[in-house]
Amino acid sequence: MAPRAVDVPALVDSARAGTPRAIARLISLVEDDHPALREVMAALVAHAGRAWVIGLTGAPGVGKSTSTAMLIRAFRERGQRVGVLAVDPSSPFSGGALLGDRIRMQDHSHDAGVYIRSLASRGHLGGLSAATPQAIRVLDAAGFDVVLVETVGVGQSEVEIAGLADTSVVLLAPGMGDGIQAAKAGILEVGDVFVVNKADHDGAEATVHDLRHMISLADRTTPGTWRPPVVRTVALQGTGGEQVLEALDKHRAHLDETGELRRRRERRAAEEIEQLALERLRSRFDMVEGRGGLGALAARLVAGDIDPYAAVDVLLEGADCE
Ligand code: GDP
Repeated sequence: MAPRAVDVPALVDSARAGTPRAIARLISLVEDDHPALREVMAALVAHAGRAWVIGLTGAPGVGKSTSTAMLIRAFRERGQRVGVLAVDPSSPFSGGALLGDRIRMQDHSHDAGVYIRSLASRGHLGGLSAATPQAIRVLDAAGFDVVLVETVGVGQSEVEIAGLADTSVVLLAPGMGDGIQAAKAGILEVGDVFVVNKADHDGAEATVHDLRHMISLADRTTPGTWRPPVVRTVALQGTGGEQVLEALDKHRAHLDETGELRRRRERRAAEEIEQLALERLRSRFDMVEGRGGLGALAARLVAGDIDPYAAVDVLLEGADCE
């Protein structure tokens, strides 16, 4: 079935005016890797780059959704508009997995200054790592001051997705991730701000202490280097939101003062371009006409019919003369 025609200029105008339906439609185009996406991105780039992209990651159950709701309230009190993207790399095909979270955040559902959306990657070969920067760009261009990207930490994905944000918040809870576990998971490097949530539970103090110790061991002693603060919260009671915001503000100031904001964004842009290039290349692999694509080449390599370098030539030449 041919994809539904899209009036991109009208859609972009209305997303920029803050119309939730238009924003939703644009993000669906991203998820579907719709043919109109190229035109959408071309229309959006000039309007993007203003939002502060904050990543929030942590293991399931540490309180990400509860904390997101708390942060939304705190930003709204400052009069800032907040767009939230809930990204679950463990279930790339079921945007519905996060429905529960959205329901819990419903107290914001009638506030035009808040937009909450879970993200799936139904069409993107590059999965969420290709779709997420595009969805962020939609919210950014739609004029949200803050774009919060909530990701479920599962193994390496939190590390990858942390690379999407200007500021990365790593959420832990007592007993769920002490300093050593955090170091093993590689999150000490990606966190700009650490939040120990569920500070009403036993062991919170030990977790904070542990984390501070691990952070002090990490090589961040060079002058001008950011040393990530550790903040305690009880998100369920809304306690600590202001302190998290203060820590975020300090990091934002550090990003601006050191030029790190620009460096991070350029690194991210490079990754996005690379991801799209790989995606385009991969999509051509299956179209190497008459030669059966990657699968056929793999069979020939196993059968000893072709060497791997010659197979690459076939693949890339095929890509050149589609
Ligand atoms: P997520 O899976 O990381 O999004 O975690 P949720 O926000 O869904 O929270 C998981 C559970 O922990 C829920 O039952 C929350 O009510 C609860 N919770 C969240 N924050 C706190 C907190 O600060 N203290 C306590 N005791 N429970 C909390």
